[in-house]
Amino acid sequence: MGRFRPRFPRTERGPLTSTSPVDAYLGALHERVADLRGGEVASYIPELAKADPSWFGICIATADGHVYEVGDTRQRFSIQSISKPLTYGIALGDHGQEAVAKRIGVEPSGDAFNEISLAPDTGTPLNPMINAGAIAASSLIAGATPDARLERLLAVYSAYAGRKLDLDLPIYTSELDSGHRNRAIGHMLRSFDVLTSHPEATLDLYFRQCSVSVDCRDLALMAATLANGGSNPLTGERAVAAELVQKVLSVMTTCGMYDFAGEWADRVGLPAKSGVGGGIMSVLPGQLGIAVFSPPLDAQGNSVRGIEVCKALSEDLELHFLRVARSSRSAIRASYTLETVRSKRRRSEHQQAMLLSVGNAAVVFELSGDLLFPSGEAVVRAVVERSEPTELVLLDLTRVSLVSAPAAQLLAGLVDALRYRGAQLVVIDPSDRSQVGDGQAASRRPAEFSDLDAAIEWAEGQLLQTRTGPEQASGTIALADHPICAGLEPEALRRLEQVLTSRRFQPGEHLVTQGDVADGVYLLLGGDASVIIALPDGRKRRAATLSAGTSFGEVAAVSPAPRTATVRADKAGECRVLSPEGLDRLGEIDAETKSAVLANMLIGAFETVSRLDREVAALSSRDQLT
Ligand code: GLN
Repeated sequence: MGRFRPRFPRTERGPLTSTSPVDAYLGALHERVADLRGGEVASYIPELAKADPSWFGICIATADGHVYEVGDTRQRFSIQSISKPLTYGIALGDHGQEAVAKRIGVEPSGDAFNEISLAPDTGTPLNPMINAGAIAASSLIAGATPDARLERLLAVYSAYAGRKLDLDLPIYTSELDSGHRNRAIGHMLRSFDVLTSHPEATLDLYFRQCSVSVDCRDLALMAATLANGGSNPLTGERAVAAELVQKVLSVMTTCGMYDFAGEWADRVGLPAKSGVGGGIMSVLPGQLGIAVFSPPLDAQGNSVRGIEVCKALSEDLELHFLRVARSSRSAIRASYTLETVRSKRRRSEHQQAMLLSVGNAAVVFELSGDLLFPSGEAVVRAVVERSEPTELVLLDLTRVSLVSAPAAQLLAGLVDALRYRGAQLVVIDPSDRSQVGDGQAASRRPAEFSDLDAAIEWAEGQLLQTRTGPEQASGTIALADHPICAGLEPEALRRLEQVLTSRRFQPGEHLVTQGDVADGVYLLLGGDASVIIALPDGRKRRAATLSAGTSFGEVAAVSPAPRTATVRADKAGECRVLSPEGLDRLGEIDAETKSAVLANMLIGAFETVSRLDREVAALSSRDQLT
């Protein structure tokens, strides 16, 4: 497995929603498999022979209800044997598992679907996916009258599909006229008391259930309903009890593809059911529903293109359920934009205001668990469906344990799709396990960081740089441009300047040291510095990075308390220090300027608090997501 990796073709210009690598992949698969000839449209039910052999649709519906579709996905056809697992679920719900097990086995028969066969020891049909078992299951649908039973059946099927389904009457009558073999099965079941009343009413219901008219999208949503634990992901309506889903999927796994079941389990490895109308539906529990529609059938009665598509999907996307079993369902642990969450770099007021207005253009997704195709798809969709203009997408893989080859391919496809839109994908991958860019052309390789905060800081710089120019994004400012001087007239500024001391610093130098008595408020005019806090256990933590336009140590203005952190220079620069004595002197010569400066400090402190509040709110969404 993993030999062949899906190629996600280069996407066209257009809205980002139309550039999903999943759509591109399905389009290419459809194009390739459409060329496949061979197989015959079923003709033993005359009405079925009218199907056009070139009809071909592929649909993937996710367990949260997103539908990808390509080809003839809205062409109606009869559900045929794909009805069998649905009716089996109704029988289980109406009579309980014990009662049903007495009448219908769960053993793969290796027989053709229409084999006139019963278990030699018990006289019961071997399983509910061959006609004998399916007819027995239809007889177990509860209801006072034939009409009531049919109505129930249609209501449940409709709940699976999420829309009201009806019968294809010409198919039903054609089947009624030509169903001699099924009649034989019905009478045989009656003779063994598996059916307890005259077979004709049950056969009539069975023929009707086979003629229910669906399209490929309906089947994908039915499969997604099973993947979603029994309720339709779009309508929320429950079609089958959660505890029965496992039973239904079990018989699909062992018996869903007639006597092709063994090879199907090996090559595709997804519970599935096919029908002679040309449909196949298959389920990746917890993740996806897949449906293919193409009428030409092979000798076993399975859609030729349907089998090819399912094999390709399983191999390309590594969907074999024994492989996907360890994947956790939701890979998106938290998602937020740079409007609400910032790096530890403290920015000038001007830059903060700028980030507040443009931060939405950079979005962060924190992922967890195994990143396989289904969770990769969820990430890609969250990105391409963003309605806001997107410039930067940051994927934090710090908590991801494994990235499968198809998921890595999907992300490479996303790099490409974003680049086409002038946007960029950034991957945060401390252990470099993701291999997202490995073996890819440079244009499909994301930017990589080993630390989320560093990536966010870089992204902020990118957003600022494109709007303010590089020197403003990280440079030196004049004292007049420092937020603490906001609103000061030149004369007031001059008086403030008189009471400030100037200090230059080199990398590594401590501007203030934790525990020392506070000697003044620091106004940074250039250079970078880190705020480092020593924790009680002795470890040190970087709490913030400061650059021009920020200030720190404001508490010194009001009390000589010890410093609560060390500020160490990372990049040479300069600052001004306002000592408590300086502030007093300013008060004596110009009380108004002193209170203006204090008010500006208060505004800065208030802004920091409200930004932290927003961050806490955005980050606490994780708790709801995990
Ligand atoms: N109505 C069809 C039959 O019983 C269903 C068969 C099928 O889809 N395999 O012959």
